[in-house]
Amino acid sequence: MSIQHTDDVPQRTPLPEQSFHEKENRMTIADLEPTTPRREDEHPLYRVAGVTRTYTQKGRIVKALTGVDLDIMPGEFVTIQGPTGGGKSTLLQLLGALDTPSTGSLLLDGRELASASAKELGRIRAEEIGFVFQGFNLIPTLTATENVDMALEPLGLDRAQRRTRVAEALAHVGLDDRGDHLPTELSGGQQQRVAIARAIVKRPRVLLADEPTGNLDESMRDEILTLLESLCAEGITIIVVTHDSAVARHATRRLRLTKGVVQDITK
Ligand code: ADP
Ligand code: MG
Repeated sequence: MSIQHTDDVPQRTPLPEQSFHEKENRMTIADLEPTTPRREDEHPLYRVAGVTRTYTQKGRIVKALTGVDLDIMPGEFVTIQGPTGGGKSTLLQLLGALDTPSTGSLLLDGRELASASAKELGRIRAEEIGFVFQGFNLIPTLTATENVDMALEPLGLDRAQRRTRVAEALAHVGLDDRGDHLPTELSGGQQQRVAIARAIVKRPRVLLADEPTGNLDESMRDEILTLLESLCAEGITIIVVTHDSAVARHATRRLRLTKGVVQDITK
């Protein structure tokens, strides 16, 4: 019996080379031997300490984060749940170097983001962080290929390298035959897969997603979750903000953010 190939099942093709940070993130028995020297990758990818973020809006002070302490290790699949207004998007923007804390320390791979220059934050975003949003945020006038290619603009690759990378990323999310489609010519699940291809084409260390399945029906949601899990297995750290407890079931660690404070609810 042949395997049914439907449009909405991602057909993944592994990327060449050692994909992402696969090798560094795999624990082996040897790592547990007491004689093994401490490896660099045992340091947290993120170390958040005493982070607050306060907004001032029309003279009123809003404390979005009131004191977050959090370590995230490379290769984790973390979900962040919690009520609307709890500070989830604010935290994700800080982790994504889109914003900086009001007070406290936020280390990415040992580098302090809280005091980094705008230029340095921009470089980190362009090279190391992939973003996925609820509304996909694709540019409607560009094809899938062109949308994915945009993420490579800051990296200074030549045209041939870019073309190869974009084709690989689209194949990785099972859309190698949809490169010339506009977003309106794709299903919601396919659009989110293009957005994920755009996020991974730069080969980031971490993928941050804010309600990535919020606009999708159940089957498309499961398709995106399977894809995120496979990216995590390849060594990309995944951090997902979600309202959906079905999404949280895929996590290796579950956090809850309420009134600006993080609580670990992994059972
Ligand atoms: P969540 O994503 O959990 O719904 P947010 O991080 O978006 O929460 O918001 C946390 C709090 O900060 C809310 O009270 C929200 O109104 C406020 N807030 C978020 N962004 C801004 C902003 N740019 N200016 C003023 N207040 C903001
Ligand atoms: Mg939010």
